[in-house]
Amino acid sequence: MLFRYANLLPDWYKGNTHIHSTASDGGKTFPELAEMYAGAGYDFLFRTDHWVESDVEGDGAVYPLLWVDGMELDGCDHGGSEYHVVCLGKTRGITGEIGLVAAMEAARAQGALLILAHPRWMDNSQDDAMRYGFDGV
Ligand SMILES: [Zn+2]
Repeated sequence: MLFRYANLLPDWYKGNTHIHSTASDGGKTFPELAEMYAGAGYDFLFRTDHWVESDVEGDGAVYPLLWVDGMELDGCDHGGSEYHVVCLGKTRGITGEIGLVAAMEAARAQGALLILAHPRWMDNSQDDAMRYGFDGV
């Protein structure tokens, strides 16, 4: 009986949910990143370039691991707190012109998960971290 339940446990996959490529301020291309991470045993990577909505489906290339859509937002909110927020999921129509808070709302409305990124580096307070109902830190 125990064995039967053990078979129902999900597999675990190794991935990185915050990566920058040459599409923004990273130093490696998507193929280079995929080769490097696959060689280290990773199964998936999210594309989280700054203000670049990724399009994994439209990429057309074959990679040795799974790419997943995402992007990173950055900027200040209305109170002057600076944030970096990783959006996990496919989004469309989000650009820097609409501003950080509107971009977070739009990403959430499209089903993306919002992850507060490197809050210590941004000097975010606990209040900052609680302000927007982030899905993770
Ligand atoms: Zn960042």
